[in-house]
Amino acid sequence: MVIKISEKFPCILAKNVEYTYSSGSLALKDINLSIFKGELVAIMGKNGAGKTTLIRTFNGLIQPSKGNVLINGIKTDSKTIAELSKNVGIIFQNPMHQLFSNTIEEEIKFSLKNLDLSDEEIQTRTNDILKNFNLEKYRKRSPLNLSGGETKKLAIASIFCRNPDILVFDEPTLGQDAREIVFFTNLIKRELDKGKTIVIVTHNIEFAMQHVPRIILMADGRIIADGPTRSVLNKEFLAEKTSLILPQITLFKRAMQESGIQSQDVIHSKTEMITFLKNFIKNNETKIKEEN
Ligand code: ADP
Repeated sequence: MVIKISEKFPCILAKNVEYTYSSGSLALKDINLSIFKGELVAIMGKNGAGKTTLIRTFNGLIQPSKGNVLINGIKTDSKTIAELSKNVGIIFQNPMHQLFSNTIEEEIKFSLKNLDLSDEEIQTRTNDILKNFNLEKYRKRSPLNLSGGETKKLAIASIFCRNPDILVFDEPTLGQDAREIVFFTNLIKRELDKGKTIVIVTHNIEFAMQHVPRIILMADGRIIADGPTRSVLNKEFLAEKTSLILPQITLFKRAMQESGIQSQDVIHSKTEMITFLKNFIKNNETKIKEEN
């Protein structure tokens, strides 16, 4: 009998997860969560909400004090971190903590070490990934001598070369310029097309609004909202609770309303707002002409 795993298979499942640091700090409280294969999800919330602790449970860096985390249906406490990292690649906020080698080429090779690949395969994968990330010219350079953006690229490349099916990014857009954000956005789109699951921890509300369909909102170690981005990020009480600044479009709509201009609830993007404003101006011009 062939068991078909449905597309709606939770590749990350957290059941009643609690975590207390040895200092006594209760960082995760009753976390229940399903993230499905192929999804793009953002975890948001203010500093100290538990976001980093939560993503660390996905590759076994942290084992829950209570409850379970299952990756592709298997409990994380039944696997080693090395085994789990074949499935879950986490790109941490500070890339320097992730890089150990003397050269960029060695960094990629080090990352490919425990995957049971031949020397030839390691070299081919290294060449491919350096090319894909435009890092070929820096092959022999030390990771210490890269710009901030390039270091972040190398950190991503050193995880991508392992080809994990779940990718987790901690604050990927932090300190990135507009071009680097476009590079990152294209990168995650390509990975989604390949069927990867992507989780992004971010404070970047405009990025989330534009690119991420689902938001998990955390406060004080708990998940306080989980749903479609447009609905979660437009709720003022949630924004207040998590110190998030509402999206610019929402603030603009509110300002228009205060000036007596009723915009529609369906406006969530810049393009939708521009269309609305163009029509609004056109209608008003017609009205003025008719009145004269
Ligand atoms: P976030 O990523 O949302 O900023 P964290 O997961 O880093 O939140 O932190 C959640 C809580 O756990 C905070 O109260 C924080 O102070 C505490 N915490 C985080 N890391 C440690 C640690 N290594 N030891 C003790 N407490 C920690």
